[in-house]
Amino acid sequence: MSISASGLNGPSEPSATPPGSAGTASVTDRLVAANQRYAAAFHDPGMDAQPVLGVAVVACMDARIDLHKALGLELGDCHTIRNAGGVVTDDTIRSLTISQRALGTRSVVLIHHTGCGLQSITEDFRRELEQEVGQRPTWAVEAFTDVDQDVRQSMARVRTSPFLAHTDDVRGFVFDVRTGLLREITNS
Ligand SMILES: [Zn+2]
Repeated sequence: MSISASGLNGPSEPSATPPGSAGTASVTDRLVAANQRYAAAFHDPGMDAQPVLGVAVVACMDARIDLHKALGLELGDCHTIRNAGGVVTDDTIRSLTISQRALGTRSVVLIHHTGCGLQSITEDFRRELEQEVGQRPTWAVEAFTDVDQDVRQSMARVRTSPFLAHTDDVRGFVFDVRTGLLREITNS
């Protein structure tokens, strides 16, 4: 089963009030209101921008992964770089390069997960998009079927990047969204 381009932004879009919203407030209004409560209790931690643990975590944007809780991270500990799939794209390399060369990180942790949306779409997604909007996206969808293999590919892209200063501590994992456990992926 594949998710068509039109299925992602077309007729299935609910026209009613989105879940969790109150009255006419949009979801963004909710977030802004939450921020006002957050700021009221906020104290400047006086932190440097350099991540305390010297690590950058690249992960899927999946809503079920609470990276800080799942990895025992505190504010200021790490850089988190997230996208659909947690794949290592040129833009991920851009962020990692700045993370390492300007902000002192040395370790890279890659986290993909079970039940990823990228396992249910294919590169046909690009063609369907082109048919719908008349323009082919410049980016690859980065769909995959074997999550372990995709983690290996992501690790390889980091390790072989000419731009990164530190590629000796790169480890990859699959997060199980049902158990909350990480499973490490080895190179073989
Ligand atoms: Zn995912």
